Amino acid sequence: MDYRQKLKDHKRIVIKIGTSTVTYPNGRINLKRMEQLAWVLADLNNQGKDVVLVSSGAMGVGSADLGLTERPTEIRLKQAAASVGQASLIQIYKNFFNEYNQKVAQILLTKEDIKNEERRTTASTTFETLFRMQVVPIVNNNDAVATVNFEFSDNDTLSAVVANLIGADLLVLLTDIDALYDANPRKNPGAKRISVVEEVTDNILSMAGEKGSIFSVGGMETKLLAAKRCRESRTDMVIALGEDPRILNKIIEGEDIGTLFINKEFQK
Ligand code: GLU
Repeated sequence: MDYRQKLKDHKRIVIKIGTSTVTYPNGRINLKRMEQLAWVLADLNNQGKDVVLVSSGAMGVGSADLGLTERPTEIRLKQAAASVGQASLIQIYKNFFNEYNQKVAQILLTKEDIKNEERRTTASTTFETLFRMQVVPIVNNNDAVATVNFEFSDNDTLSAVVANLIGADLLVLLTDIDALYDANPRKNPGAKRISVVEEVTDNILSMAGEKGSIFSVGGMETKLLAAKRCRESRTDMVIALGEDPRILNKIIEGEDIGTLFINKEFQK
């Protein structure tokens, strides 16, 4: 049975885009990608799907805005840079989405908003209300106020948490590596792409490679942990190359690209 064909019917979709996909290495915004992303997501929304974008990049963009030559390491500077960058990101997203007549909203979350039942319910109601009004929420970690204890460690985790909160059918992680491989493809040319994963076992986790060194921001490990979370919350997950965001259409049409992690219910 071809699981991929089922992706066509998925109605509620979370798309996460990593820092290295949305910005250039110097921290400035990759406008071409952002524009394509806005086009694809607005079109999915027009098809009647509920779409959420989880976008990283605030700290990188803020650092560039502030003329910092290196990413800040001190927490207070990180928070300051992220809050400057978040405003830039949203402004540009809003302009691009506006070209397609697509309304957007900004939702910044901390762990506390998910742990606390009242805040969790409020967040969930806000998402539902926005979906009903065909708005695309753009989510990030609330870097300006999140303290170390409350902060989501990375946006891979945050996007899986959001997928769970809204009962998403599919989470797509757009990143700088096109799939999960059985060995590090950048070091081992014979590495094979894994098309479908039914369960993230310890063996699969061991394929994550060195954390944070060669892979995008969170690394492959955080993506696999996100897949574990999704499996439990009945969300399918795909890891794919974000170089051309129009890849989203191919994924939803069931093309065999990237790596698909099938949720628990799907396998029945
Ligand atoms: N919230 C961070 C930012 O927007 C990104 C964290 C991550 O990509 O994992 O800069």
